[in-house]
Amino acid sequence: MSQIDAVTARVGQPLAPIGLTPEALFEKCNALARNLWWSWQPEVINLFRDLDPIRWRQLDHNPIALLSEFTPERLEMRAAELVLFSRINHAYRRLKEYMSGPPTWGRTHVGVLGSRPVAYFSWEFGVHESVPIYSGGLGVLSGDHIKSASGLGVPLVAVGLFYDQGYFKQHLDIDGYQGEEYLNTKVENLPMEPARGPDGKPITVHIETRKSPLMAKVWLMRVGRVPLYLLDCDVKENRPEDRELTARLYGGDNRTRIRQELVAGVGGVRALKALGISPGVCHLNEGHSAFATLEAIREQMKDDGKSFDDALRDVARHTAFTTHTPVPAGHDRFDGGLIEEHLGPLRDELGISFEQLMGLGRVEPQNEHEPFCMTVLGLKLSRRANAVSSLHGHVSRRMWAHLWPWRVEEEIPIGHITNGVHVKSWLSHQMQQLYDRQFPADWTTRMGEPEVWQDIYRIDPGELWETHNTLKNLLLAFVRRRVSRQCRRRGESDEAVEAARNMLDPNVLTIGFGRRFATYKRADLIMTDMDRLTAMVADAKRPLQLLFAGKAHPADEPGKQLIKRIANLRHDPRFTGRIVFVEDYDINVCRHLIQGVDVWLNNPRRPLEASGTSGQKAVLNGALNLSVLDGWWAEAYDGANGFAIGKGTQHVNDAITDARDAQELYRVLEQEVIPLYYDRDIDGLPQHWIRRMMNSISSLAWRFSADRMVADYVRSAYLPAAGGLSCDMSVR
Ligand SMILES: *Cc1c(COP(=O)(O)O)cnc(C)c1O
Repeated sequence: MSQIDAVTARVGQPLAPIGLTPEALFEKCNALARNLWWSWQPEVINLFRDLDPIRWRQLDHNPIALLSEFTPERLEMRAAELVLFSRINHAYRRLKEYMSGPPTWGRTHVGVLGSRPVAYFSWEFGVHESVPIYSGGLGVLSGDHIKSASGLGVPLVAVGLFYDQGYFKQHLDIDGYQGEEYLNTKVENLPMEPARGPDGKPITVHIETRKSPLMAKVWLMRVGRVPLYLLDCDVKENRPEDRELTARLYGGDNRTRIRQELVAGVGGVRALKALGISPGVCHLNEGHSAFATLEAIREQMKDDGKSFDDALRDVARHTAFTTHTPVPAGHDRFDGGLIEEHLGPLRDELGISFEQLMGLGRVEPQNEHEPFCMTVLGLKLSRRANAVSSLHGHVSRRMWAHLWPWRVEEEIPIGHITNGVHVKSWLSHQMQQLYDRQFPADWTTRMGEPEVWQDIYRIDPGELWETHNTLKNLLLAFVRRRVSRQCRRRGESDEAVEAARNMLDPNVLTIGFGRRFATYKRADLIMTDMDRLTAMVADAKRPLQLLFAGKAHPADEPGKQLIKRIANLRHDPRFTGRIVFVEDYDINVCRHLIQGVDVWLNNPRRPLEASGTSGQKAVLNGALNLSVLDGWWAEAYDGANGFAIGKGTQHVNDAITDARDAQELYRVLEQEVIPLYYDRDIDGLPQHWIRRMMNSISSLAWRFSADRMVADYVRSAYLPAAGGLSCDMSVR
């Protein structure tokens, strides 16, 4: 008998409210679990957690998996013990109201999008940790984008791939070396169902190639009001190797990649058509899905009898393209052989030559040595292109200037819309309750407005500090739990496990660093001078502790060595219990870190961080950013809302840049961050630090919210594209 059953047995048969059968109650819980709306509702999350807190954690916070362990009768008993009936009813009613569409921003701002929605294509979607079809920043951005589109009431449908093994789980071995484990996701535990066409039948899409055809089925996942359609090649009609095609995100070679991109782009457009959806705007979030444009051209030629050139012009007018990659090598490129094998049949229907097709993906169309680049295709076939921060806009215009050789750099038609984060997903419940007390009553529907956040200064500094420290304690408990489990799994001694259970001190300034372990992000910058780091960490009066997390791409050996170096610092007596590596960075680990740290550290080699969003999540919860002036921080930092490393200068080579940035990092820590944190008044409050937390929240939370971002996309990309206006996006 489980603990819960034992409790239930003691309480005896509970009485449900009249008219609510166990089955009806169960149905309501299932309805809540089957729309990812729940994932940004603290009350619904708490409801699921309360049903069985231990299993909830063990099941990766997956409510469908949790409910599958209940019968309606057992659920009813549990609900009775905890008096959950009214909470379940209330949550269910709120979901119904949300879905039936209360007045939203969208009602008055989306104009022509109302009749034909935006189709948003992305390679990964990071909506919640229990839906593992994302790896990192790009996915979480897409997830946040569609959540805000849902909240604002922007008519939008999202399209991507379903990866049934997702991205890998990270475990470090005893030497600190990263191991990768791929788990098969149980489809029945995910909030998705076969997508059905107007005739009610599940749809599949077919794609011819020169060698063998590909098929994909289509899933529907509900993310609030936004339907997310996911294509999946695991169908019996496919050849065995093709059934695995969409198994892994970022797995396989270039041939796997182009086949996946064929399914996402061409397959994605066909899926929408089969669903009876005709989008008015196509938004390609990064180049992976850019083949969608070719299929859209084919559709117009076939359905409307247009010429290739006319159809191309029309598709481009209705397409918006977002680039995310500031390094030339980071863009997908394919050789002519792969392109012809996979796009040959489509090319036949378009009536264009191989050279013409290749030209669409080349900077110099006639250059036979140039491969086909997806970003070039995206830029050529969209009339509106944007980078994801102001600085990234400059970098992108310079990088692609040769596509428009007749223009000066400032006139290259790539603008920027800076990334933002979905506030309700990243703001802790505790902070939200604090804000609820001082902010305008309707603030959660106006989070993209600056005025709303000015009320942060009305909050009592002591209360803000106390709330922050509550969250910090939760984070430290989470890390201790995780790390002691890691030690046990690796078969370490009982002393090691016990030490992990007792490490970390809530009174110590805590710095967090969580991100992909790509070498340009320089996780080890702070280890440039170990003596200086030791002096700070072990300072008797004003010590420091550091939390690290992040995955390296399976093929990135230098990234893995970096993880190993940092993870192994735990054996160094100078750092034991003060520098900690938390395994398996994902949305859950990220959420804990950004909600609980004092300082969020970001020190990439400028200008390689296109935007970055984790620091924006930290802002919402009162953490202060300590960052190189790169990506979003280059436009966010104002001298009083966080800390800057360096002045945004670039040096002649990486070695000099790294050395200078390390010096700057130490200087800021020693002279600004540490003194400010430990400067306490007679009540023990760091008044100047708290002031800076308030400055950070008031000046940044609204600007770097996904609501502001999506509203910007509506105004400067979607609406002009829907109207077919051919002016370029303004370069701001
Ligand atoms: C937010 C987030 C990211 C992106 O953070 P960056 O600041 O861009 O590095 C990556 N991974 C996860 C799991 C996240 O939640």
